[in-house]
Amino acid sequence: MTYKLKIRKMVNAKEWLEIGQKFHGHKCPAMPNGLRVAEAAMNKLGVERTGDSFLHAIVELGENHCATCFADGVQVITGCTFGKGNIERSHKGKWGLTLIDKRTNRAVRVYPKAEAMMQTKKTTFFKDYREKGIPPTQVPDEVVQPLVDKVMNAPAEMIMTISEVFKYNWNEPKHTFNSTVCEHCGEMVVEEYTELINGKKVCKDCI
Ligand SMILES: [Zn+2]
Ligand SMILES: [Zn+2]
Repeated sequence: MTYKLKIRKMVNAKEWLEIGQKFHGHKCPAMPNGLRVAEAAMNKLGVERTGDSFLHAIVELGENHCATCFADGVQVITGCTFGKGNIERSHKGKWGLTLIDKRTNRAVRVYPKAEAMMQTKKTTFFKDYREKGIPPTQVPDEVVQPLVDKVMNAPAEMIMTISEVFKYNWNEPKHTFNSTVCEHCGEMVVEEYTELINGKKVCKDCI
């Protein structure tokens, strides 16, 4: 008798650090924090990165606050991207991540521990550079690298809290392939976004 063993490789945040930094554009501790939190969520759910959209991520970030870089780490490692439309912000101004496996209606929520994030806030990187308005690309490597190393190497239980897997009934929104040409400006526009003005289908710019 032969057994077919399906061995799933655990997701490893370290394998995504370089591409994450390239995509993100600078070195900071928040993007790696997103990698680590998402790594934990994926491994808890037992899922691989999504090339399609079987995963959906909800990040609790708002706009215009510190450490929103976190979302880029989540995007890079999970494959939940702005382009694919399978990541969303819930605008709570927090760093929790809910990762949903749409195929099985299972989800997990992971959030960075407050103590770990507060410690980072007290470092030179924040106090002497970021809070003084110095852009991340201008921060010397010797200041930021130790923070990146710390986030990447810390045991998960030190820096985050991982929920149990819970049921999440996913409702797939309707996707449309309907697009048309605006009868006023001549640009492509998705049908559902047009309005009928004087018998002509026009885009929002042409109303
Ligand atoms: Zn950043
Ligand atoms: Zn138009």
